[in-house]
Amino acid sequence: MTWVERPSPNHDDRGGAAVDLLLLHYTGMQSAAAALDRLCDPLARVSAHYALDEEGTVYAMVPEARRAWHAGVSYWAGARDINARSIGIELVNPGHEFGYRTFPEAQIGALTRLCRDILGRHAIAPWRVLGHSDVAPARKDDPGELFPWAGLAAAGIGFWPAPGADPGEAAVADLLIRYGYDPEAPLEKTVAAFQRHFRPARVNGMADDETRCLLSGLVAAYDAQKGECA
Ligand SMILES: [Zn+2]
Repeated sequence: MTWVERPSPNHDDRGGAAVDLLLLHYTGMQSAAAALDRLCDPLARVSAHYALDEEGTVYAMVPEARRAWHAGVSYWAGARDINARSIGIELVNPGHEFGYRTFPEAQIGALTRLCRDILGRHAIAPWRVLGHSDVAPARKDDPGELFPWAGLAAAGIGFWPAPGADPGEAAVADLLIRYGYDPEAPLEKTVAAFQRHFRPARVNGMADDETRCLLSGLVAAYDAQKGECA
């Protein structure tokens, strides 16, 4: 993969937190140049460790030992300072606002290699490879329903559910929270975030039977594997 050093001034100390989460984004801007400029603009106060353009060039922006500023107000599994404990990767894509489109093969190929390297350097569990919308469901839609989560999971990056037994509608909120979603986020937004990641064919915030079965299968697999790793 083509590697370009493009240092951003936007980072600070991790405050002793270990890296245990990998967070994926899209840039949501009209061009790669505009997105890269913004991620390096001291006035914008945003950054990521890496940005990948659609040709698969990797821009290294913030050293992994430093805390980059990509998650904003967010939550996962009891933690709110997601920046302190994560590696953040931005994928160039105009996003839902400017013409959301398929992530090209070259970009996903480079991402796969980069993620493998990162997972080799840090103890990040598969169920902690997440999208921005997972950790900020009320505010964010990225990387969105076109992101190939299933393909990445097949390549050993992230977690992918097989459907389980229907847990019933009353159990949905508890299961989402058990996996890690924010208990304070509106349920419909959290269901939509779950769908964007795990049931991208229909993202509507409705916990239909397919969504419910995938959620129960996901949490069952997560409980089983988490037990093995404890
Ligand atoms: Zn984002």
